[in-house]
Amino acid sequence: MIELAIPRTIFDDEHNQFRESVRRFYEREVAPHHAKWEEDGIVPRALWKKAGEAGFLCATMPEEYGGVGADRMYSTILMEEQSYAGFTGPGFSLHSDIVAPYILNYGTEEQKKKWLPKMASGDVIGAIAMTEPGAGSDLQGVKTTAIRDGDDFIINGQKTFITNGQNADLVIVVAKTDPAQGAKGISLFLVEAGLPGFTKGRNLDKLGMRAQDTSELFFADVRVPADAMLGGQGQGFYMLMQELAWERMQIAIMAVAACEAMLKWTVDYTRERKAFGKSILDFQNTRFELAEIKTETQIARVFLDKCVELVAQNKLDVATAAMAKYWCSDLQNKVADRCLQLHGGYGFMWEYPISRAYADARVQRIYGGTNEIMKELIGRTL
Ligand SMILES: Cc1cc2nc3c(=O)[nH]c(=O)nc-3n(C[C@H](O)[C@H](O)[C@H](O)COP(=O)(O)OP(=O)(O)OC[C@H]3O[C@@H](n4cnc5c(N)ncnc54)[C@H](O)[C@@H]3O)c2cc1C
Repeated sequence: MIELAIPRTIFDDEHNQFRESVRRFYEREVAPHHAKWEEDGIVPRALWKKAGEAGFLCATMPEEYGGVGADRMYSTILMEEQSYAGFTGPGFSLHSDIVAPYILNYGTEEQKKKWLPKMASGDVIGAIAMTEPGAGSDLQGVKTTAIRDGDDFIINGQKTFITNGQNADLVIVVAKTDPAQGAKGISLFLVEAGLPGFTKGRNLDKLGMRAQDTSELFFADVRVPADAMLGGQGQGFYMLMQELAWERMQIAIMAVAACEAMLKWTVDYTRERKAFGKSILDFQNTRFELAEIKTETQIARVFLDKCVELVAQNKLDVATAAMAKYWCSDLQNKVADRCLQLHGGYGFMWEYPISRAYADARVQRIYGGTNEIMKELIGRTL
């Protein structure tokens, strides 16, 4: 990666060794195959098993549930290395750092023992289904219902844009147990793939992140036992809100690492590429562009590392996490555009990593709460 001048202070030697092994994993297990997976629109389950064996899934879970009790710096390293490598296919962070923490924090002992070790080994792939065709930003408007029937709940509804949706064995489904209520009527359910009435729709065709499966999910009279409920009835919205700071940070972490990667690729490319008898890098415009990108990336890096430190201590507030998510993902998109421009026509060619990085960057401003919603959240603190 491009060396930024201000040293990072959030990692120790063990973290740095871990980073090396993650980097080798991406070089060995992902790099040779990612282009094929982009064509397939999905990464194979075998990769999940390999990641599990390497200890790269659910690392922050306690040992009794299959993890190694790692701190969030390890999660940060896993996400950064994926961004540095430029391979957005594996949906590991959603599985390990969004789905698994819900089960750890709100699950019963039985639920934790049933699911977490298998998620850590890669035998079970997790997803979370909030968004519906008619409800994205406005989560309180979800229409999926889970209505009590004796000892069971019957789930009906439809979800869309669900990451890991095709591969998923276990989906946390956001549903209304009391459709007459807004936030207070929302509950979460652990729903297993293969249950009668639960079907997976299309693997959606996307502008970017083409090796990651994103799916529609349908629920038609899906009967789940009452113990499939995660946390208390009507507590769903509250639980979703508790986890948001860390979820948004993950997008920011991947964004700033992507900026560093794009800067490096572009410095290398413009140094090699010649026009008018000199390197593209020797034109003042190129140097000024890259100087600005380097400066803004350095600023983002310092702010973000402070936020990572705070989130690891559970001290990061929602509004500051929203700042990190919106600002860093906006920066990622600006950097992608400027770096692509400096690659000329080659930047538009899919075989060049900057082309993929440009396409992959776009969704970062949309998912995890759109950047407009982030500004709403920050605005409320004024
Ligand atoms: C690749 C991908 C992966 C995803 N993965 C998942 C997943 O795993 N699980 C999941 O549940 N969801 C997932 N999503 C869904 C994602 O979180 C939603 O797309 C996002 O929250 C926006 O919702 P929406 O698409 O319905 O847009 P809308 O809510 O319809 O928004 C449309 C536009 O209106 C703006 N807008 C809406 N409300 C306001 C407001 N109050 N003020 C100002 N502007 C507003 C938005 O910012 C946006 O620009 C994924 C989406 C994508 C594209």
